[in-house]
Amino acid sequence: MDNCIFCKIVKKELPSEIVYESDNVIAFRDVAPVAPNHILVIPKEHVESLSDLDDEKRKNFLPEIFGSINELVSKENLMEDGYRVVTNCGKDGGQTVGHLHFHLLGGRGMQWPPG
Ligand code: C5P
Repeated sequence: MDNCIFCKIVKKELPSEIVYESDNVIAFRDVAPVAPNHILVIPKEHVESLSDLDDEKRKNFLPEIFGSINELVSKENLMEDGYRVVTNCGKDGGQTVGHLHFHLLGGRGMQWPPG
């Protein structure tokens, strides 16, 4: 998608601190972190949100996305104290960037319920 910020990050047209990359998935530090560890994990292919995954995409992306999250949890030393994984979907979910992404948040205590 030409005007998608995250597609530009995938194509390296916008700078970002990439912490994981494979053929299908990329992860980078959030530009405005809300926790000491705040990483976004995204499929390289443009998919608007979780609601837009068909069966094929679900099989292609989700195992690798969650596999990379497991790796990042270890790399960022989040295993012991814990962490949160969130995807915001659509208007009520608070999604602001229309390219599927999972937030990996850690390094501080989280609250529940979220705002
Ligand atoms: O879930 P939501 O769509 O609100 O999250 C988008 C996230 O993308 C925000 O946390 C924002 O800080 C991040 N972002 C980024 N780099 C950009 C634009 C947005 O890390 N260039």
